[in-house]
Amino acid sequence: MSIPTPEAHVRQVVETVERRSPSEPEFLQAVHEVLDTLIPVLAEHPEFIEAEVLDRLVEPERQVMFRVPWLDDDNHVRVNRGYRIQFNSALGPFKGGLRFHPSVNLSVVKFLGFEQIFKNALTGQQIGGGKGGSDFDPRGKSRFEVMRFCQSYMTELYRYIGAQTDVPAGDIGVGGREIGFLFGQYRRLTNGHESGALTGKGTGWGGAEVRTQATGYGAVYFAEEMLARAGESIEGRRAIVSGSGNVATYVIEKVQQLGGRAVTASDSSGFIVDEQGIDVDLLKQIKEVERGRISEYADRRPGARFVSDGSVWSVPGELAFPCATQNELDEAGARKLLDGGVRAVTEGANMPTTPEAVALLQQAGVLFAPGKAANAGGVATSALEMSQNASRDRWDFEQSEERLHAIMRDVHDSSYAASVRYGRPGDYVLGANTAGFVRVARAMVDQGVV
Ligand code: NDP
Repeated sequence: MSIPTPEAHVRQVVETVERRSPSEPEFLQAVHEVLDTLIPVLAEHPEFIEAEVLDRLVEPERQVMFRVPWLDDDNHVRVNRGYRIQFNSALGPFKGGLRFHPSVNLSVVKFLGFEQIFKNALTGQQIGGGKGGSDFDPRGKSRFEVMRFCQSYMTELYRYIGAQTDVPAGDIGVGGREIGFLFGQYRRLTNGHESGALTGKGTGWGGAEVRTQATGYGAVYFAEEMLARAGESIEGRRAIVSGSGNVATYVIEKVQQLGGRAVTASDSSGFIVDEQGIDVDLLKQIKEVERGRISEYADRRPGARFVSDGSVWSVPGELAFPCATQNELDEAGARKLLDGGVRAVTEGANMPTTPEAVALLQQAGVLFAPGKAANAGGVATSALEMSQNASRDRWDFEQSEERLHAIMRDVHDSSYAASVRYGRPGDYVLGANTAGFVRVARAMVDQGVV
């Protein structure tokens, strides 16, 4: 049997995915985004085509969907849908966060799980890719409602996870509080204290130092490396940041630690501009402690303003960090960033930039760091948490941050090296996809048809 050309092979795999998953736009977008960059790798490795690595890669090993019934504070029964997509375990246990947001559906969880495979491979650690979540909306819910929901969610999920099998963590709507509730129920159901079954735990009961900061800090470290290669730095530069959750908060903190000035933050109701530089303590007080809205920042900070209708990307700045959600930076937003003098765009969120916007920014010569490389610091630190749980060891903050920094340098360097090897130096989208893919593909070939 003759082997198809790489182009024909990719076309055929994409057509299969489109036929099987016609109503999963986010997943299709992620598949296109990765597969379109793999032609040069497949040309170099016909054995990947022969072993049908791509056909197997686009199909999750296992997908779990389940009912999550819970009681609200008025004793009304509520029902949500839960998901866990165990996408690929060639490199290690499935690993990836849980997202609780009303927009969660099968397509969103599959896109996130698919991206996670390559991201996790890029970290150089032994972790496979997975993702999960629910269409539950934690906003406006009491602490006890969130707890009852988490307990019900885990009552089904616990059958599928474990330190050697699948290790969930947080994502949108799932932070330290939710991981606590989920772990409490897991521990109760499994009659043990298998710490390694979840990451993002509290530092007093098995959590790793720096896990909270890791995704945001890691994204800024990646930006620093990317800028340094181009002879530039973060110091003295203005940063435009979207989101005001876990990732955005620690991007802002690290940008300012490195001498930059982050002047914006946002949530789904609008954005704030603070020309003095965001006051990170106030931001944390409002978003982490009080669970309030970003508009409250402008009420409490002299000189800051809140904008409810407009685009955060219209604020001028040399650095941009989209850190909220998928497809939040479209072509119109990218044009605004270019008008505002942007030099580098670093994705803190997963797939926040539309394909059209990525093309526009790259054509304009803007340095562009895709999320699967730039936001890999979170999962990398989660893998460090797994190691510490397995060895019952505990590293301090400095040691953990040093490890994170070294991992992000490696992620940058291997992405850059792959961009050179496959003919487009400095194209980090191509570099991250190909470097991650080669590692997973080799493992899949070695392990046979499974
Ligand atoms: P959080 O829940 O802590 O914060 C999310 C932020 O984004 C909030 O400000 C939220 O505003 C905003 N947001 C979410 N959805 C929307 C939407 N549809 N429209 C407008 N704004 C929205 O989540 P994280 O900071 O943890 O995650 C942010 C991104 O980073 C996600 O893409 C996630 O997948 C990615 N990521 C997170 C990692 C982690 O370690 N936490 C690791 C790697 C990637 P509002 O409160 O109004 O909804």
